[in-house]
Amino acid sequence: MMSHKASCFCGEVKFEVTGQPVAMGYCHCESCRQWSAGPVNAFTLWQPDALRVTQGAGKVGTYNNTPKSYRKWCTKCGGHLYTDHPLWGVVDVYAALIPSLPFEAGVHVNYQETVLHIHDGKPKMKDMPKEMGGSGVTLPE
Ligand SMILES: [Zn+2]
Ligand SMILES: [Zn+2]
Repeated sequence: MMSHKASCFCGEVKFEVTGQPVAMGYCHCESCRQWSAGPVNAFTLWQPDALRVTQGAGKVGTYNNTPKSYRKWCTKCGGHLYTDHPLWGVVDVYAALIPSLPFEAGVHVNYQETVLHIHDGKPKMKDMPKEMGGSGVTLPE
């Protein structure tokens, strides 16, 4: 199985994911925006056991605003690492950290909050898919 290596900005924390993500796409929610300081978050969702921290586990900081998302970063450089979503049973590895994975967005989520419209022809969920507790409603681009 293929592994994809990732590290924080300073290189203190290293981790890898193995296998295939269960989903890929873009999140447009305000929380992702405030956390990333960017207009969208390109996500790749994995089974939690696909991720292994290989170096610097003691430097991994955690912050959670809600029980849905535990956001991880390097306490030395502040670089973002991944987000645990325990209620959904997946972990989000930011696509930008694993360039060896061919990123192919399948869906946009929380598009009602967007500040950056993306005209890529992919489905634009108003909030989240039904199976993740959302309305399942799609919006025009
Ligand atoms: Zn770092
Ligand atoms: Zn989000």
